[in-house]
Amino acid sequence: MTTEADCIFCSIVAGARPCHKVLETDLVLSFMDIFPASQGHTLVIPKHHYETVFDIPESAMQAVSVVAKRIAGAIRAELAPDGMTIVQVNGAAAGQTVMHYHVHLLPRTQGESMRLHGSNQADPARLDALARAFAARLIELHPQ
Ligand code: AMP
Ligand code: ZN
Repeated sequence: MTTEADCIFCSIVAGARPCHKVLETDLVLSFMDIFPASQGHTLVIPKHHYETVFDIPESAMQAVSVVAKRIAGAIRAELAPDGMTIVQVNGAAAGQTVMHYHVHLLPRTQGESMRLHGSNQADPARLDALARAFAARLIELHPQ
């Protein structure tokens, strides 16, 4: 079991580890996956540490889902992918490697093989540019 103290995502939430942030609300954080399985691969997490769907309260899951939907729209507006896989895995047997609940947003190109994990770390400048572009699209799509 991973606790907050040894959780990578909790250290990102706490600001102890950097991320390419797309959006932060009171309950939710979204940032670029540093080992993207496709261009624009983005994560959405609750700021509080819950390991899986079995631990997260429904209210926090709802908050994550609403942000995931909005960011999916922003990614689509920016990259116009052929499709988008939205996936959330629970437990090592299901492919979970970071034991902090998260939703993957994976823009897809027709004909490209489906995978959840990338093999190479992305160029930080590229991730930064994508995060900024998605954040700008969010503001366009959901003006306050
Ligand atoms: P999962 O395997 O479903 O638990 O997904 C965890 C995801 O977190 C993987 O896609 C990793 O590439 C990603 N990841 C791990 N460490 C970081 C990090 N420091 N910043 C951003 N993404 C990360
Ligand atoms: Zn955590």
